[in-house]
Amino acid sequence: MNNQSMAYFNEFNKHALLELDKAHEQGVKIAGIYCIFGPTELIRAAGAIPVGLCGKKQEPIQEAEKTLPANLCPLIKSSYGFAAGNTCPFFSFSDFIIGETTCDGKKKMFELLDEIKPTYVMQLPYSTLGDSPQEYWKTEIHRLKAYLEEQTGNTITPEKLNHEIKLQNRVNSLVQEIELFMKEPGSPISGPEFLKILETKGYVVDLEKYAEDLQALKAELEEKRANMAQSGKKQSRILITGCPSGTGSDKVTRLAQECGALVVCQENCTGVKGLYYPTLEDAEDPFAALAERYLKIPCSCMSPNTGRLDLLGKLSQEYKIDGVIDLTWTCCHTYNVESFSVENFLDKKMDLPMLQIETDYSESDSEQIRTRIEAFLEML
Ligand code: SF4
Ligand code: SF4
Repeated sequence: MNNQSMAYFNEFNKHALLELDKAHEQGVKIAGIYCIFGPTELIRAAGAIPVGLCGKKQEPIQEAEKTLPANLCPLIKSSYGFAAGNTCPFFSFSDFIIGETTCDGKKKMFELLDEIKPTYVMQLPYSTLGDSPQEYWKTEIHRLKAYLEEQTGNTITPEKLNHEIKLQNRVNSLVQEIELFMKEPGSPISGPEFLKILETKGYVVDLEKYAEDLQALKAELEEKRANMAQSGKKQSRILITGCPSGTGSDKVTRLAQECGALVVCQENCTGVKGLYYPTLEDAEDPFAALAERYLKIPCSCMSPNTGRLDLLGKLSQEYKIDGVIDLTWTCCHTYNVESFSVENFLDKKMDLPMLQIETDYSESDSEQIRTRIEAFLEML
């Protein structure tokens, strides 16, 4: 794919760093976040900028292992290594970090991170059953509101929050509309290209402008699709689920594509998981609406986590999926254990085969993984 808007998105990090630098100079506060439970609408309503922090590359892991145990998930080690080695420009720009008590490794890592940069941790409930987790999470949203107001000196009003909720909903649905191009064979955008777009969502300074850029990209893709010749080649359509991955830790996605598959959907957090639950707009209590929305995220840290199965069922049908790859980072117990229920669900309810791959960020097992994927694709 080679069009003007995609070229802009490919260079997005460079633009984002320049804009963040400018905002920083003007005294705008920057909040680093690591997870899609971080309520970006609330951060923006406080006049601060949320930025997604790096944790998807192998290089900083050695630095992290000076402090953290080696047998920890690579995502946590990479995140900490970037911070400890001061090699993530987005971390350097951040005035403070907002974390959440998701998995055990991550919440303990936040304690150490706090020694490098002020780290505020939201206490996330582990269940969504009944009213009490909802009530509890609402108080956590208000606790974060107070913290953000103290950090920025700005008051978060319901009006400001409603405005940011609408804007974020709009951006999420535009990204979703772009992803929908991959629903049908002959998509004008590939899975890896779409992943690049998704990653830019984490570094947006001006969200209104970002929505316009997405709109322009969507229009270009529509035009491109209209002029595309359809390929007669049959390729297996793969959905990737499990732990988040991204540029630098996209080994499994890359190998699947190299083996001839089409990765048309990523259900994980770097994929579409965060796009699917719009916050109620113009709610009387937008703080409660925000709390409700964020607790719907089907992360494996939740127990039970039936929302993940619902989303997988819906996406498998929408994207005409032939097979599912479940990616588990080494030492990620929650996704590893959940893999059994996911495979069972896909087999019994969706009649879909699944391949679980447990790996880390290194390339040492690439050839073994390639062989397993080739065998899986042959079976489809
Ligand atoms: S998998 Fe869960 S903890 Fe990890 S980034 Fe996603 S929502 Fe956050
Ligand atoms: S991949 Fe698993 S262990 Fe790693 S941070 Fe996410 S939930 Fe925690």
